[in-house]
Amino acid sequence: MSVCAKCGGKGFYTRRYSGETLCVGCFGESIVEKSRRTMAKYRMVRRGDRVGVAVSGGKDSLALLKVLHGIRQDQGTELVAISVDEGVAGYRDEAISHARGLTSELGIEHLVLSYKELFGFTLDEALDWKEDREVSSCSFCGVFRRRAIDEAAAKAGVSVVATAHNLDDYVQTFMMNLLHGDVSRLGWLDPAYEDDSFPVRRVKPFMEIYEEEIALFAYSSGLPLQSVSCPYMHEGLRSEVRDWLDELEAGHSGMKNVLLRSSLDVITNYGSASRKASVPCSNCGNPSSGGLCNVCRMKAAVEQHINYRG
Ligand code: SF4
Ligand code: ZN
Repeated sequence: MSVCAKCGGKGFYTRRYSGETLCVGCFGESIVEKSRRTMAKYRMVRRGDRVGVAVSGGKDSLALLKVLHGIRQDQGTELVAISVDEGVAGYRDEAISHARGLTSELGIEHLVLSYKELFGFTLDEALDWKEDREVSSCSFCGVFRRRAIDEAAAKAGVSVVATAHNLDDYVQTFMMNLLHGDVSRLGWLDPAYEDDSFPVRRVKPFMEIYEEEIALFAYSSGLPLQSVSCPYMHEGLRSEVRDWLDELEAGHSGMKNVLLRSSLDVITNYGSASRKASVPCSNCGNPSSGGLCNVCRMKAAVEQHINYRG
């Protein structure tokens, strides 16, 4: 029987990249400790911060809420959970009910905003237009989600929003930017970057933790799992990048960790030079790369389509 390297208890999980075996309790503590270290290293939150936690209701975001709740007193922070209802029939309702369950159990204020109330259409209605678009459903949805989170953050009075992006998400995004030839976006991945033109700071406390470990933490903490996936989740290139990185990791343990370090080096040394300055959108005043922001551009196209159909 394998034993925990920290307390000698019954082994639960072995980190292949380090060979360390931990029991359930020590494994859970290691996830909290890693998150705490990442947050300190990049000064993600400060004492007195009111922190918005983006909670989709999926396992990663529930795990994030649980971890941040456990360390909120040490960090001197106050939490508000923020959920965005995209309006996908049969999918998001379950996740939001998981988010409601955990926030009420932990006694955390919970704000839910929907695409319908913010933009005038649900994702289901907007994606009817999908066939004519060049962007994937998730890229389209992501543009509105980021804006919805900004709006929710303003409503909740928070200046920093924590999202549950993990190490796998981070290196996939890095690779996706390279594969799209989009080096100008690399600068936005800098975990220490702050831009006063953006209304809220985004932080990723799980960015140095493998997705597999977050999933295991959620499972061992008894957090609820979603039974349905989003019907629009056909991520194309991202799925291929994910499979490729998983394959590399399976053959060479620790490879994703190495890629994270290399990404951070590239971003720190090159990112600020590549980051384009943002200018206010000519319609809504939010940051854009010039003219209309992505939200206003895409919203106009959806409205045109809905009016045309109607
Ligand atoms: Fe939006 Fe994609 Fe998530 Fe579905 S899977 S809610 S389309 S980002
Ligand atoms: Zn705009």
